[in-house]
Amino acid sequence: MDSNATTPLLPEVMEAMQPFWMEQYGNASSAHRQGQQARGAVERARMAVATLLGCKAAEVVFTSGGTESDNLALFGVLPPDSPEKIHLITTTIEHHAVLHAAEALAARGAVNGNIEVTFIPCNAQGVVEPAVLQAALRPNTKLVSVMFANNETGAVQPVVELARIAHAGGALFHSDAVQAAAKLPIDLTGELHEVDLLSLSGHKMHAPQGVGVLFVCQGLKLAPLFHGGSHERQRRAGTENVPGIVGLGKAAELGAAWLAGDGVAKLAALRDRMEQTLVAGIAGCGINGGGVARTCNTTNLYFDGVDAEALLISLDLQGLAISAGSACQSGAAEPSHVLTAMGLPLARARASVRISLSKLTTDEDVDYALEVIPAAVARLRKMGAARGAVSIAAV
Ligand code: PLP
Repeated sequence: MDSNATTPLLPEVMEAMQPFWMEQYGNASSAHRQGQQARGAVERARMAVATLLGCKAAEVVFTSGGTESDNLALFGVLPPDSPEKIHLITTTIEHHAVLHAAEALAARGAVNGNIEVTFIPCNAQGVVEPAVLQAALRPNTKLVSVMFANNETGAVQPVVELARIAHAGGALFHSDAVQAAAKLPIDLTGELHEVDLLSLSGHKMHAPQGVGVLFVCQGLKLAPLFHGGSHERQRRAGTENVPGIVGLGKAAELGAAWLAGDGVAKLAALRDRMEQTLVAGIAGCGINGGGVARTCNTTNLYFDGVDAEALLISLDLQGLAISAGSACQSGAAEPSHVLTAMGLPLARARASVRISLSKLTTDEDVDYALEVIPAAVARLRKMGAARGAVSIAAV
């Protein structure tokens, strides 16, 4: 139940990738038959991703994952050696792939004096309000980057409205849709036509780790991160990861079919059953950011008085994997930057966990979670109370 950290390959994805390791292993840039087989597979995958996103195949750039896509979007639009003074707006709730890239740009801007970055806040539900973006825009704002759905709470951001505001202010708009793709419909020629750049990651949608996509709207000039061959129409140099790209294409095809059916409603019902049962059955338990539209698979819950790391370890020993904050944060003592940005008191942020399901999660999995979570919470609270009693007695 840590699917926002990563997901397993679907069998169909594995099967689609299989021939491209040892049989059709050509370099997609080679002119011979093996190369052309690989090229054909890459282009079919590009079409499948374009269908999932409602964009043109030529607008799909394959990368090594969400982190690279985010960096390519920010550094590609805001070259650190830009002669003009440029302004970037992003938010305090972004994944570190955007947050740290923006901080790196800000640090270079501080030296060169040409890039300024504003981190706009979210509200108490973890949503970035359009009026806040509007107020932060400057005449030289070149890019606005706001994630599609938050990885820790699942909160879906008002991307249509935010992109419209960015464009009206003369800025480009990027969205990190790593946690939204194949969980929410994304139509880049429909209501999302004002989005210029959008990031995806294969391993969050049942494709392999180490492959991703940056959607780059037609006509947008992007400075590449890497210098090398003219792959991906000169937007991303380096021999294509053909098996990974084929896997991502298959996952996109399966994701589109799943979205067209009743998968979202079923997964949301499973998530809702789990969180409602926990909230109703455990005192001092509630949902962080539960009052807004969320991705169908994610819940972020607090258990007052319980250390989230201790709960994570206790559940891990019983075979249930969850997360305290984001995966990259686990092990660090710092509470989640997203929960603190939402204004949660430190003690509550430290008592919060993320549970994220996938389309492979079953009713039985949820039943098991509902058996072990309340018991672990009760045990940890009892231990905490006993420790408190001992230390009071010692004083
Ligand atoms: N953006 C978000 C919202 C994420 O959740 C993640 C991964 O957790 C990333 C970006 C990074 O993606 P990748 O692991 O493919 O580099």
